[in-house]
Amino acid sequence: MAKLDKGTLALTFKFDCDRFLRFRLASDQERDALGVTADTYKRPGIELIKAAGRRWEADKYQDLINTSDTGEVLFQLEDREDSLLGCKPFKKIENLFEILRGDKPPSAIIEAEFTVPTNITPGLQKAYDDYGLQQVRVRPDILWIRPGGTGAPLIGDLSDTPEYEIHIVDVKMAAEPSLRHFTEVTYYALALATAIEQEGLSGRYAVSAEGTIWPGNHDINAFRNLVLLNQAQGSSDPVSDALDETLIRVPYEVYEVHVKQFFEDRLLRVLQTDIDQASWHVGPKCQLCDYVRFCREKASECDHLSRLAWLGLAQSRAG
Ligand code: SF4
Repeated sequence: MAKLDKGTLALTFKFDCDRFLRFRLASDQERDALGVTADTYKRPGIELIKAAGRRWEADKYQDLINTSDTGEVLFQLEDREDSLLGCKPFKKIENLFEILRGDKPPSAIIEAEFTVPTNITPGLQKAYDDYGLQQVRVRPDILWIRPGGTGAPLIGDLSDTPEYEIHIVDVKMAAEPSLRHFTEVTYYALALATAIEQEGLSGRYAVSAEGTIWPGNHDINAFRNLVLLNQAQGSSDPVSDALDETLIRVPYEVYEVHVKQFFEDRLLRVLQTDIDQASWHVGPKCQLCDYVRFCREKASECDHLSRLAWLGLAQSRAG
């Protein structure tokens, strides 16, 4: 059964390609009939790049743990060290809503996993109902739980200030987050807000509409030094102040609309399209797509317009 995972959503935004989305949501029979093969293309050294990203992530988790008071950051570690990571990997936390029901939640939870509700928007629910998509679970890197009233925009129509606000934090090695990162974080925020409501926790918690990215930095000690600087300057909450200064806020007014529009329009439209009819155009953006070999071969076979140099998708559609 096909799954709409966060990678499919984020990469559809990155490649801006209906065929990519349709391939990702295809059944095995559809893929076999068309001869589509994924995972045939792997970037050289991709495992090492991923490991570097995971090391940066683990290091930032550790920064947060080490600079916070004991018990303030909830996390679990695997039993064994990972040789590529150089430490024990962080383990997923599966009882998020039980933790949130406690008297006082921690200030942050690392790698908490939850099931994405099917009804984030009516269009998404229709996609689940009509096309039997498999439900997915997601695991934002950090849930930063702050007392309500920070002034951050919150998801939903709230008449009162909630007791707590949950801010999604995604740790990335890239210094400049991309469209893909922004859409992922926005998706997490929308999914968590709906899940919180379904769990009957919306009286106490609200989710910030403004997801955040903890970006890469050439200085691995930047966060710790910032906390020390805030302490020296007399901050009453040096960790929160350091997070405030470090995190990049996602322009939610733009991305919330994009993600909702994806569920309401593109997802259903692409699911309704036959697999060999979804629009496509091979161009520079395809370089890192798993299907690039397949699409290049098809473009040569049918002398596709995308073989013309400098011709973009919009121009090829117009033609
Ligand atoms: S290679 Fe390009 S055209 Fe083909 S599915 Fe991927 S993004 Fe779309």
